[in-house]
Amino acid sequence: MLLPTSQTLESRKLGVILNNRNMTLSYDPPKLAFPEIASLATELTRRSPLQSLSDSIPLPEDCIVKPKVPLANLTSFRVGGPADWYAAPQNLDALNACFTWARQYELPITLLGAGSNLLVSDLGIPGLVVGTRRLRFSQFDVATGQVTVGAGEPLPRLAWHAAERGWQGFEWAVGIPGTVGGAVVMNAGAQGGCVADCLVNAHVLLPNGTTQILTPDELSYSYRSSLLQGKGWLVTQATFQLQPGFDPQVVTARTNDHLNHRRSSQPYHLPSCGSVFRNPGQQAAGWLIEQAGLKGYQIGGAQIAQRHANFILNCGDATATDIFQLIRHAQHMVADRWSLWLEPEVRILGDFQPI
Ligand SMILES: Cc1cc2nc3c(=O)[nH]c(=O)nc-3n(C[C@H](O)[C@H](O)[C@H](O)COP(=O)(O)OP(=O)(O)OC[C@H]3O[C@@H](n4cnc5c(N)ncnc54)[C@H](O)[C@@H]3O)c2cc1C
Repeated sequence: MLLPTSQTLESRKLGVILNNRNMTLSYDPPKLAFPEIASLATELTRRSPLQSLSDSIPLPEDCIVKPKVPLANLTSFRVGGPADWYAAPQNLDALNACFTWARQYELPITLLGAGSNLLVSDLGIPGLVVGTRRLRFSQFDVATGQVTVGAGEPLPRLAWHAAERGWQGFEWAVGIPGTVGGAVVMNAGAQGGCVADCLVNAHVLLPNGTTQILTPDELSYSYRSSLLQGKGWLVTQATFQLQPGFDPQVVTARTNDHLNHRRSSQPYHLPSCGSVFRNPGQQAAGWLIEQAGLKGYQIGGAQIAQRHANFILNCGDATATDIFQLIRHAQHMVADRWSLWLEPEVRILGDFQPI
């Protein structure tokens, strides 16, 4: 992959906007008619490498691409290095502009929802990371019992909104701290429910800029798995079938019960990614890890949780490398004891040293 040097980027002034304080690379052909472009471009040629430009100009407003953005605060593990470039577009036009910009400079694109199922390398992620958390809306259609939501809508928020309306069918999702887009990709599920059971369709933006509407069958759903994993296709919105017309108090109480159950059985008090490994067949990965004697086992600041052995906790000062090594250690220990290799459910992004 050819990454653009500051020199090559500077020589392509198209789409580069700056002011005296901030600078960000933004793809915005319609705004090229702005009179300040010529002088800005002249100033740009005098500038040093892009990485040293610390400021940003939000232009165009909906597609702000920022350099060297730390990702630790954008993931639930609270670890990981920076994205070379990061953008959190607010609508489809801005999203398309980001994709076009990345294509123009041949940058790899990584998609980020709430970051609640990701382990990002301490070295960070090359290319452009597109965060979907600002792609938010929800429309409840009383006539059909369907709710259509933007990819960045948090699952717990959707669960509460459905419950408050007396719509049942999404109570299971209340304790899953991801976005709708991430949940569609991961086939997220809990307590007997999962995305595949209630998804009507998902709108997916392909890297070439076209949109497809895919049904659960077309998404090839299975346990915590879908066709979308590793594809780089971006879920922009999803429609779910729920059941309206129930007593809001009853649905809210049930939603509350789900949350309380999870809080009492899982360690929510420290940063994690939820379950690290997929359950192999009927066996619970947590039970296998516990039987291997690993509860409480620690590498650096990363620890296998006492309360639930399929959780790895960041006890405060963990690095992504600590967590990665603990994942590998658990895999080897379980393989030695049970002759099976646990597959991570967590998505591992960026470079890690092989162990
Ligand atoms: C405390 C805790 C408890 C959890 N409990 C559960 C649970 O009970 N059940 C469960 O299934 N999961 C659970 N998880 C894991 C996680 O919340 C889910 O996997 C969730 O669906 C991930 O959503 P996200 O938005 O955070 O996705 P991310 O973690 O940001 O991304 C996950 C994957 O999806 C891709 N992606 C994200 N958004 C999009 C998009 N819009 N379009 C295309 N690709 C996208 C990413 O590139 C990545 O490959 C838990 C996590 C935590 C921290």
